[in-house]
Amino acid sequence: MKEILKVENLCKKFNKEIILKDISFSLNEGETLCIIGPSGSGKSTLLRCINNLESIDNGKVIIDNNYLISYVKKLNKKLAQNINTTMVFQDFNLFPNMSVKENIMFAQQKALRRGKKEAEEIAIKMLKKIGLEEKQDFYPCNLSGGQKQRVAIARCLAINSKILCMDEPTSALDPELVGEVLKVIKELSKENKTMIIVTHEIAFAKEIADKIIFMDNGKIIESGKDVIDNPKNERTKAFLERFNYNKEAKK
Ligand code: ADP
Ligand code: MG
Repeated sequence: MKEILKVENLCKKFNKEIILKDISFSLNEGETLCIIGPSGSGKSTLLRCINNLESIDNGKVIIDNNYLISYVKKLNKKLAQNINTTMVFQDFNLFPNMSVKENIMFAQQKALRRGKKEAEEIAIKMLKKIGLEEKQDFYPCNLSGGQKQRVAIARCLAINSKILCMDEPTSALDPELVGEVLKVIKELSKENKTMIIVTHEIAFAKEIADKIIFMDNGKIIESGKDVIDNPKNERTKAFLERFNYNKEAKK
């Protein structure tokens, strides 16, 4: 198995406050990593550092054996052939003034310098894949939350980055719309798309993850395949218990 991501001793501060403390882990190509943990534990910041959306204060992020420099580089053509990461956000981040198809084309034209025709073909292919081909000329405001998020996923798939990151992709959705998005993510996991997913869907994480990381207070508390079924650390146990309790309480 090929190692696609290596994070070594990553530290991140915001205004002198340490947010991520000495984070180290690795991910193989084709694997799905799920990150769980309480609010404020640094999950989003970690994803943002891996996506080069935040600078880092110490440590390394190595993607596909290339040291990722912690400032935003101007894309050149050569680099643009192979985008390291793409990201799906909680609140979709679609461009409201572009149709579904244009949203998916725009990313490719910008990031990969694809021509219009090729970008359009790939956009339609990806819309078919997520089952929204018939919505290609719709504007985001005329889609449901679940549909918007599926479009955001299609936009990333069109780029076909080495790693696809998702930050709580279903947290902004009404409960009845969560399933359709999880279904798409599950398919991708089955196809061995390399993914890092921050989620509070504990049962889902358990089902699809090759590896789970539990974070608390800026640190990895424990990681592995078995974190949800067989947590070893007291903090992990408490988190999972609270979760189950809350889940039961909602029913
Ligand atoms: P999570 O995603 O696990 O809820 P975050 O990564 O969003 O956690 O936040 C971790 C900590 O970093 C929080 O205490 C948050 O207030 C702080 N933080 C996040 N972004 C910023 C920022 N841009 N400036 C200052 N503090 C931030
Ligand atoms: Mg977050």
